[in-house]
Amino acid sequence: MARCDVVVLGAGIVGVSVALHLQAHGLSVVLMDHAAPGEGTSFGNAGVIEGSALLPVGFPQDPVTLLSHAMKQTSESNYHLADLPALAPWLWDYFLHSSPQALAATARDLRPLLSRARAEHHALAAPAGVMDLLTPSGWMKLYRTETAFAATAAERALADELKVAYSVLDAAGAIALEPFLKPCFERAIHWHDCDNCSDPGGLVKAYAALFEARGGVFLHGDALSLRRTGTGWRAETAEGPVDAEEAVVALGPWSVELLEQLGVKVPLVAKRGYHVHLAPENGLTLGRAVVDVAGGYALQSTRYGIRLTTGVEIAARDAPATPVQVERDIPMARELLPLGAVREAEPWLGRRPALPDSKPIIGPAPGIGGLHLALGHGHWGLTLGPVTGLLLAQMMTGNTPFTDPKPFSARRFL
Ligand SMILES: Cc1cc2nc3c(=O)[nH]c(=O)nc-3n(C[C@H](O)[C@H](O)[C@H](O)COP(=O)(O)OP(=O)(O)OC[C@H]3O[C@@H](n4cnc5c(N)ncnc54)[C@H](O)[C@@H]3O)c2cc1C
Repeated sequence: MARCDVVVLGAGIVGVSVALHLQAHGLSVVLMDHAAPGEGTSFGNAGVIEGSALLPVGFPQDPVTLLSHAMKQTSESNYHLADLPALAPWLWDYFLHSSPQALAATARDLRPLLSRARAEHHALAAPAGVMDLLTPSGWMKLYRTETAFAATAAERALADELKVAYSVLDAAGAIALEPFLKPCFERAIHWHDCDNCSDPGGLVKAYAALFEARGGVFLHGDALSLRRTGTGWRAETAEGPVDAEEAVVALGPWSVELLEQLGVKVPLVAKRGYHVHLAPENGLTLGRAVVDVAGGYALQSTRYGIRLTTGVEIAARDAPATPVQVERDIPMARELLPLGAVREAEPWLGRRPALPDSKPIIGPAPGIGGLHLALGHGHWGLTLGPVTGLLLAQMMTGNTPFTDPKPFSARRFL
């Protein structure tokens, strides 16, 4: 039987980062997953470590936009009608948290985390020997019409106020940065404070290897085996039981089942999204991720090819895949860049672990001593994993947190 101070459940970017930071704070840590590290949601994202992130992706507020989503006229979103009744309370809450004022308030709450996000990645990527997976070139959003660009005025004003760096470009300026782009857009915004990761799953695996090289233990096991013991927690692993004083739930979109079992209610759903890889043609290289705002999809250069990641699909987490957005995005992407064949038979389906106010939960589970939560990072989990690990480790070890953790408390949902 193994004994440790903390068992961390889930080895995605969040769990691995939490494990590394607890270890750096002097605790003995077992990291546990039923798969290898970095094979859940953290495997297939768009690879943007988005220090410049400001306004979360909100629920459409104006009737015209809402109607176009409802009528499935835009590939930015898709939904499963049959799942809407079960998701309706969450969607209503999400709608309420998507007013311009609410999104700006969320941006302010998240700023201390986001502004530190890249530095915290670098502090792990350097000793893990994988700085070469990161390219510090920012990312670029493309607007096909002046009207679409004009709609970013509030976000640019917020960026100016919060000192988040960006450049507004015309098509020629964007093409000077990305020479393979075809001029089928009017404007671009280059957000500077981002790293582009060419292998997000590989990055998580390298961080997990660093955790083990520093004396941490990674074990395979089912997190649902977690039980209270007299003094702490016990989880069953392939190597036998692990006893720990404290436990951290970092199971991404799969946190719900364990929390229900423990009597903790959090409004966590999966905002689904897909990826495929396309073969670059005519010597195509991409220096940074580009987003075609009209389709809500991103294109990123990865070790697997040019990764196209879609916008959001609202459906039950485990509902069958319906990659209609991929089918609609690919022709749009081919208008922008010389892209060849799709490399996989089936698109990858990912599940962004999403809370209705677009902020993660980082901190103690209400009413359950020795249980901590690091989940619900939504669209920004790759970005926020390491900084989440730092904040939670500071809280769990009684150190002064680098920022006020209150906006991320689970108590806001009680
Ligand atoms: C299409 C798409 C694009 C995205 N693009 C970006 C981006 O560019 N930038 C960004 O910052 N974020 C992005 N995200 C979001 C980001 O990928 C997620 O927020 C992040 O990966 C969540 O990490 P996690 O560690 O919480 O969850 P996960 O990575 O899902 O990790 C959870 C872990 O729990 C394990 N697990 C589950 N159940 C059990 C069990 N019963 N027992 C043991 N282990 C279990 C899983 O195996 C998994 O390893 C994107 C997401 C998607 C879907």
